[in-house]
Amino acid sequence: MLLIEEKYKSVAELLLSSGTCPRCVLRFCCVGSPAPYRLPYKDLEDELWKFLTNDGDILPPNKKVRFEDTELCRSETQIPMAVADSDVADAPQICNLCLGILQHHCSTEFVKKIFHKVQSAGYEFQDFVFPVSLPPQLSVREHSAWLQAQQEMRKQDRLLEKADIIQLKEAYKWIIHPMISEELGVQAVSKSLFEVGVVFCHQDTDEDCHFLATVCKDCFKPTKNKQSVFTRMAVVKALDKIKDNDFVTHFPWPPSSPKTTCQVVDIQCNHASVFVAGRYNKYSRTLPQTPWVIDGERKMESSVEELITEQLMMVFKADSFNFSSSGREDVDVRTLGRGRPFAIELVNPHRVQFTEQDMKDLQQKINNSDKIKVRDLQVVSREALAHMKEGEEEKTKCYSALIWTEKPIGKEDLEFLDDLKELKIIQKTPLRVLHRRPLAARSRVIHTMKTEYVDEHHFRLYLKTQAGTYIKEFAHGDFGRTVPNIGSMMQTTADILELDVESVDVDWPPALED
Ligand code: ZN
Repeated sequence: MLLIEEKYKSVAELLLSSGTCPRCVLRFCCVGSPAPYRLPYKDLEDELWKFLTNDGDILPPNKKVRFEDTELCRSETQIPMAVADSDVADAPQICNLCLGILQHHCSTEFVKKIFHKVQSAGYEFQDFVFPVSLPPQLSVREHSAWLQAQQEMRKQDRLLEKADIIQLKEAYKWIIHPMISEELGVQAVSKSLFEVGVVFCHQDTDEDCHFLATVCKDCFKPTKNKQSVFTRMAVVKALDKIKDNDFVTHFPWPPSSPKTTCQVVDIQCNHASVFVAGRYNKYSRTLPQTPWVIDGERKMESSVEELITEQLMMVFKADSFNFSSSGREDVDVRTLGRGRPFAIELVNPHRVQFTEQDMKDLQQKINNSDKIKVRDLQVVSREALAHMKEGEEEKTKCYSALIWTEKPIGKEDLEFLDDLKELKIIQKTPLRVLHRRPLAARSRVIHTMKTEYVDEHHFRLYLKTQAGTYIKEFAHGDFGRTVPNIGSMMQTTADILELDVESVDVDWPPALED
């Protein structure tokens, strides 16, 4: 059953006699159910002829003659689908609307090609989405056919809206999705993380669009990134604007029948990014957080980022990554306690299915390094990443510092520091970061301090501060750019010898059992 309504009969005749394939005929007859599109090409062709020559008629072997006999043919041109012996049906004349997509690119061979491409790419996936990029001139040809079909319907005092026509992409999906599904053994869904994309082009008919640029100049503005101004969007916009008369003058009906089918420029597989989060400790005072490269020259042999991502990249087989963290520490600062939250975006990962045990093993591999340790390593959603940056300014951080004083000190010289609560300080952007941060004066709060006397020139200072406080500058004063500071309060010159981050108070990612 074709499910074509009787009222569309003249539209079907018109298109079929102009070089349009049976599947495109279904589309312009507004057949909104997948089954007829999935009929074998030859069967569909036969059914269509039966429909046009009144249901139930037995077709003679040479339908071309039959067609002319029944005077259904209104054009003088050759009837493209008329000769329907099996050889010709296997290699039908290329459709002037879909440029062969609903003919040649629905074949089992093409689906096999897709399957081999996916298989050799080596991805793990549970379902797939199949985006298709069509050449923009298809819209021009469709527009042309729509105007003609509209005219036919008007003769019966009926309307045919463009939106009533089944889109090529929709019909193509109906046919090819089940075929690919069967090959891959998974379902096609509209929101899959795994994408198998096909890009079609058809050079012979590229010029179809060009007249639009002379009629609707403002629709085609050159943009930096696009190779051609004739993007699908611009063409659709121009077709929306152009007057019917102008269109028909420049692009007479019927569109030419192409000699070749659309070419497949590319079949590309891609997996959406996977995000992995955790917390890291850094035990080295010679390890930067991210690769430290100045003028193309490495200053330190490794980094926290590299020690973590090397293992992840290997296991997830990703193309690239993006590392982010809740704040950062200087190269000579250790991060202790429960560590600093971090997240890594793995771009286009080929392996994505990991059990909790797999993640534990991976964490163990990373932890073979003596410079860093990670914990709570887990796969998280993109959305969850926001928790890491949320309220970064309001959070508190705890540090411990080894302070040196020029003036000899006794235990009693430190007591006043233990008593200071919610100390407000003003920090001008430190000299050491001025090259990458704008000059500004920021107010920060030192919530509490606790001291531990070491000897007459050294003491340990434990601080709980507002996030974003520059601790080194709070110790030595940065030439008076941080006020007050430890030196100014103790009326001596002070410096910081060692600094450790004791805790980063961000409750994310969730703690995991060991
Ligand atoms: Zn077609």
